[in-house]
Amino acid sequence: MTTLLTGLVVGFVVAQVGLYITTIYLHRALTHKALTIRPTLSFVFRVLTWMITGIRPRQWVAVHRKHHAFTDTPQDPHSPLIYGYAKVQFGNVVLYRRSAKDPDVVAKYAKDLPRDRWDRVLFDHALVGLALGIGLLVLVFGWQIALVASVVHTALYLLGGGAINAIGHKWGKRPYDNLATNNQWLAWLVAGEGLHNNHHAQATSGKLSLNKGEFDPAWGLISILRVLKQVTLREMKFSQKVSSHTPG
Ligand SMILES: [Zn+2]
Ligand SMILES: [Zn+2]
Repeated sequence: MTTLLTGLVVGFVVAQVGLYITTIYLHRALTHKALTIRPTLSFVFRVLTWMITGIRPRQWVAVHRKHHAFTDTPQDPHSPLIYGYAKVQFGNVVLYRRSAKDPDVVAKYAKDLPRDRWDRVLFDHALVGLALGIGLLVLVFGWQIALVASVVHTALYLLGGGAINAIGHKWGKRPYDNLATNNQWLAWLVAGEGLHNNHHAQATSGKLSLNKGEFDPAWGLISILRVLKQVTLREMKFSQKVSSHTPG
């Protein structure tokens, strides 16, 4: 395989790992507590988040909870209805950072994730984590493949996140009564997060596919982790389940 092709494949795989970590750890477990991950695996996710995305979990959690609190209103950190499709699709990282850097947002929405000594020593140093991740790619594949893979990973990860927030609030099916949308084709590319209308309808569900014909790829991995007793699901009370289902 040529250097370019290998770099493309490695970059695609690393981006996918990043998207699976984002949906399982940052989104479903930390933000919505739909899942509880055993401490050792949770720490592995924390290290991988640092090395693959450079994201500080408490910031991601805070920005995302604010998105749920003010969905598609002027206070939503990244609504395509407010900012327009292109700004969210391609500038999602800028909008995210604007909100993530606001100490009031983190203080209000991520009280359950205080900065600890691991954050001070390691995880708050995003560039160190990303440098280690890239360094590992250089060691395994050489600098040329690592360079291509890093560029491809960054582009795909950012475009994937942008698509969830932009396409996922603009085009697609709305089986439940909220402004987010379902796109199965997108769900295949972004670890299930394309089923975003379902998610807004039932944010504490560990599984994003709720209806016939839908498939949530990350749910497959979560199911394996449940069998291995690494993950437990939140108990869903009857009243927490979706009640406003209007098939369409
Ligand atoms: Zn949303
Ligand atoms: Zn959410």
